[in-house]
Amino acid sequence: MSSSQMRLNLATGEWVIYAPSRRKRPHDVQTKKPIENISPKDLETCPFCPGNETVLQSGILEFPASGELQWQTRVISNKYPALTPQDSTQRVAHGIYLTTAGYGRQEVIIESPNHAETLATLSVEQVEILIETYHQRYLAFMEDPEIMMVTIFRNHGSAAGASLRHPHSQIIATSIVPRNRRWQDEEAQRYFDHWNRCLYCDMLEFEIQQQKRVIGENESFVAFIPFAAEVSCEVWLMPKRHQADFGSISHTEKKDFAEILQGVLANIYHKLDNPDYNYVINSAVRYKTEEPHVHWYCQILPRLSTKAGFEIGSRISINPSLPEEDAQFLRGE
Ligand SMILES: [Zn+2]
Ligand SMILES: [Zn+2]
Repeated sequence: MSSSQMRLNLATGEWVIYAPSRRKRPHDVQTKKPIENISPKDLETCPFCPGNETVLQSGILEFPASGELQWQTRVISNKYPALTPQDSTQRVAHGIYLTTAGYGRQEVIIESPNHAETLATLSVEQVEILIETYHQRYLAFMEDPEIMMVTIFRNHGSAAGASLRHPHSQIIATSIVPRNRRWQDEEAQRYFDHWNRCLYCDMLEFEIQQQKRVIGENESFVAFIPFAAEVSCEVWLMPKRHQADFGSISHTEKKDFAEILQGVLANIYHKLDNPDYNYVINSAVRYKTEEPHVHWYCQILPRLSTKAGFEIGSRISINPSLPEEDAQFLRGE
């Protein structure tokens, strides 16, 4: 491809610009990170390290570990929550403006007692326990009828918004559904109305058949770079069985999800020199958990570049690398 190209992202309905003149190999985009030094002081002051529990808010759930470890994953309430379940969800009018109390639930999942680990360096068995923890907390949050949407996510590195080094994920449940989620559901609904098929199931079928953007697969999951990826080396992990709701994941699927997630993160860690990244599990909102057109997936977004003025103003993404090339790179070709 010599000139630039635009691609339609079928999930969002947004166009993405591919700019080959800016193209670099993903590993050239990433600036070399300095070697990370973890000092004894970091361990003394880290609120997530074992032994420092007194500064934490109360623990909600712990998965016990074998051997000398007291726990493997630990769920705690967020010390500085943006949302709490105490208030009412009633709207209040202020002239033409509208407010409501910050109703919601927010927890932190500490992924390992070991400060220096990250998911890329944990074993698949440890990541399986993390997925089990996600699942239990997801179901617990969904028991609250005021909660409309539960978002599980992980920020890795300061460019991705992580303020603490100790490996952790977060889970936030809200009583509101944002507009972009409704738009994405509408795009999938429109596709379903046209074709009587789930857009995401069709994407999976096409990606498996084409093999151009697939970077990994097991019994229950496929890992691929989406056709209209918004950033370099964006990866989607999608269950092969149609399911709208992360809450309906089966025991076997949890194992397979852990395996593919750990594998992809380890691959990114080694090939891109431990880049900062976010991942998020996009699951159905409460009233769409049985829909034939909604399909949950985990979206991994490496932070290899920063959004600039045009992207912020226009909401149009410019991606310097083509998904097929990123896939080749991550497959080691
Ligand atoms: Zn720590
Ligand atoms: Zn589907």
